[in-house]
Amino acid sequence: MVRKREVERLMEKWRNRLWLSQWKITPATTETLEDDSPRGYEATAACDADPTYRQATITIALDVWDKRSARRQNRSMCHEMVHVMMSPTTHLFDEMLKELSPSKRAVYEKWYRDVDEVQAEHLCNVLLDVMGELK
Ligand SMILES: [Zn+2]
Repeated sequence: MVRKREVERLMEKWRNRLWLSQWKITPATTETLEDDSPRGYEATAACDADPTYRQATITIALDVWDKRSARRQNRSMCHEMVHVMMSPTTHLFDEMLKELSPSKRAVYEKWYRDVDEVQAEHLCNVLLDVMGELK
């Protein structure tokens, strides 16, 4: 229950900081997450956001989350909430990719996923730095 309260506390903290108060954001947990990171990081959490209805689920991978320090958990939650914030753009790109031929879609989809992750991480670093929580 301590973990659940801490996840909810971090989620609420970043929801307020990122001005996402109109979003319904639900925490979920799983034992492990399939890691699709191009850089080979262990997936700590994942975001599934629907900007049309302003609903999102942040799924915590317990196998990785429980090994993380409080600082790393804070970073992970910041990162996932940045994905929520960026989800209207992500959703737009997903819809545009559907218009491409399968071969072009494969190229642009990988490119977009890489860019999306780099931008989310960049924004996360800026936010943590501004809040004095980077170190
Ligand atoms: Zn990410």
